[in-house]
Amino acid sequence: MAIPLIGLGTWKACPGEVTEAVRVAIDEGYRHIDCAYLYHNESEVGEGIQSKIKEGVVKREDLFIVSKLWCTYHEKPLVKTACLQSLKALKLDYLDLYLMHWPMGFKAGEQDLPLDHNGMVIPSNTNFLDTWEAMEDLVLEGLVKSIGVSNFNEEQLKKILYKSNLRVKPINNQIECHPFLAQKELISFCQAKNVSVTAYRPLGGSSNGSDLMADSKIQSIAKLHDKSPAQILIRYHIQRNVIVIPKSVNPKRIKENIQVFDFELTEADMDELFKLDRNLRLCTFPTTEKHKDYPFH
Ligand code: NDP
Repeated sequence: MAIPLIGLGTWKACPGEVTEAVRVAIDEGYRHIDCAYLYHNESEVGEGIQSKIKEGVVKREDLFIVSKLWCTYHEKPLVKTACLQSLKALKLDYLDLYLMHWPMGFKAGEQDLPLDHNGMVIPSNTNFLDTWEAMEDLVLEGLVKSIGVSNFNEEQLKKILYKSNLRVKPINNQIECHPFLAQKELISFCQAKNVSVTAYRPLGGSSNGSDLMADSKIQSIAKLHDKSPAQILIRYHIQRNVIVIPKSVNPKRIKENIQVFDFELTEADMDELFKLDRNLRLCTFPTTEKHKDYPFH
């Protein structure tokens, strides 16, 4: 199954609200849900999925469910443990796509983000190429249909693509992308290598800093098309053949975010949006900056 171009993001969707958000999303036509162990809400996401399957609204095979291997599970024997945990929480017997959440391994243990006395992450003694081998095994065992990466830069992705004994190719790189961080080079590279790209943080997230939706250019393009700024920000990816996963737990906004197939941005609109590129990364993960595999130097 091809990855549906729009998926529901679930980071910071609280356990108490995400089940209903997933239910609403499926009713509105979403068939792709972006999950992760790290979000600590996969069990509630799974409840939403199961209830829509039970109601007969969708079948399992209509859905494209993504989860991600967290950094404290990069040691080879832990990869399957992590995948099984996500499957159990989601109440599924396979994932459509399992991503390595970051190229960086952290010390295994209870804490998602183990820090040293300087407040910097404690790495594990792992290498993402070895971790990849354990992810390949998940495909061969039928636990996941495909595998990919997230937050990998071009050099890191090349290391996987050109690995000598590669058994399963990465099909996707999930990266931050929006008009303030257009990612032109990385997207061209991925698409040339048949690695699809998923844009995360498409609306600038809930935190300050970005003001994407308040940007006057984005607002004026939205007015021209009688659409919301969020719809412009989502459509921007569709026209680049980039998959996009806006997060919302609000029924009105969940619906709004998928209503982007009844209009088209002109070439001039796209040019204006590309002019907003300022290499502004919102997800920088500063506590990991000293990690040997930190991707954003
Ligand atoms: P988004 O850019 O999707 O922004 C989400 C915020 O925008 C929420 O506060 C949401 O509030 C609000 N919002 C949603 N729709 C609208 C709308 N139409 N109008 C106005 N406000 C709106 O940020 P995320 O960081 O959540 O990124 C999306 C997804 O990408 C994540 O949920 C996660 O699944 C994935 N992700 C992956 C990462 C990775 O490392 N691989 C890193 C970061 C994100 P409300 O819910 O109240 O509507």
